[in-house]
Amino acid sequence: MTTPTNGGLRDQLIAAVLKKRAAIARAQQIVVSLLEPGISDETFLDVLSEIGPHNYADVIDERHVYKLCGYPLCSTVLEKIPAQKYQICAIRNKVYDLTERKKYCSGYCFRASEYIKTQIPSTPLWLRDEEPKPNFKLLPLDKK
Ligand SMILES: [Zn+2]
Repeated sequence: MTTPTNGGLRDQLIAAVLKKRAAIARAQQIVVSLLEPGISDETFLDVLSEIGPHNYADVIDERHVYKLCGYPLCSTVLEKIPAQKYQICAIRNKVYDLTERKKYCSGYCFRASEYIKTQIPSTPLWLRDEEPKPNFKLLPLDKK
């Protein structure tokens, strides 16, 4: 038996599920769009509020599959990707894991991408419209 109150709750639940699905589908679309070369700064900063950290990680990994630099604003094709996983720095006496760094054409793109990564909110995608839109910033080019 459905009372009018239950009906209202059911409608609310359905609306919540649809909203969640739409937000996830939208994030997937954004991931695909960020695999294209020639993305503008404005477009890039604008879509960041609609994706989560794992979506951004997908973008980097997918771009790597196509041998594109992992930073979505860079259209450089990675010509030679180093085969080694680690690099030893004799001066600093340190071992560096290259797994992530290898996905980028330059140190700047790597740092710029890490910088963006730290700004992407981890709140659920379908609750984003309830919080103020973050003011995303690109790593300044003079940090090259
Ligand atoms: Zn690059």
